[in-house]
Amino acid sequence: MKLAGKIAIVTGAASGIGEAIAKKLSSEGATVAICDLDHEGGIRVVEEIQFLGGTAAFYALDVTKEEQVQTTFRIVVEKYGKVDIMINNAGIGKAGTVVDQSEADWDLMMNVNAKGTFFGCKYAVKHMLEKEIRGSIINISSVAGMVGVLNRSGYCASKAAIVGLTKSVASDFAEKGIRVNSISPGTIESPWIAKILADQPDPQKMRVQMQQRQPIGRMGTPEEIANLACFLAGDEASFITGSNMVADGGLTAR
Ligand code: NAP
Repeated sequence: MKLAGKIAIVTGAASGIGEAIAKKLSSEGATVAICDLDHEGGIRVVEEIQFLGGTAAFYALDVTKEEQVQTTFRIVVEKYGKVDIMINNAGIGKAGTVVDQSEADWDLMMNVNAKGTFFGCKYAVKHMLEKEIRGSIINISSVAGMVGVLNRSGYCASKAAIVGLTKSVASDFAEKGIRVNSISPGTIESPWIAKILADQPDPQKMRVQMQQRQPIGRMGTPEEIANLACFLAGDEASFITGSNMVADGGLTAR
């Protein structure tokens, strides 16, 4: 129980990587605020955590709305007294090269991925400073923030913004004991990837391509990202801040 007594907010926690992170933090003793646009999925995750003896509650949240992020912090703090761990995970991806990416898709990805993470960091840091909490903030970026993934211009830009923001916030508040890190996953077998595969003319062929582009020869699991997030959230990572931790089965190694 490495996180006993800790309170965590996880955005995009109704599905995939966010769900796995919420469950992992709970399994280590943290109380978890499950935040998402998806009510049904969020309530399912809360019920599954409670079934296993954990403590969690669902909060409907659109991370692109500053007022909603601020209100969520207020309500979670009123209920649990504090927030020690902030996981900015909610994200969205739309395909397109710079030639054919629409302005609407660009704005959507920058709003959810970059601005949503900015709001999450802003209110987490404000709260941690006010309460003098030596907290941990973890932002979910992507290998697409490090290398040029084909046909993902806006997504790559929005995920690179998260890496830059993470380093900036980490530098500004390291002296206050607030640690801020990003995680850059490779391809992870989540509902998001299942939807991408289902839209392909030949999903099996695409699945094999996705597996083979990672030298380890398979996609990652949400639980493998959750293990890293849990490590960064806890005291074992006490000297790690401003890092972009890559978990990609070797994709960016070659
Ligand atoms: P997922 O299964 O689609 O889960 C994302 C969750 O975020 C969904 O429940 C989604 O709700 C929610 N969400 C979307 N927009 C939101 C908003 N504005 N406010 C609050 N919640 C919102 O995706 P995932 O694969 O777990 O991805 C999670 C994160 O990992 C994302 O940031 C993604 O970029 C990153 N990532 C994923 C992979 C991968 O291969 N899966 C690789 C690298 C990085 P709705 O379903 O209602 O939209």
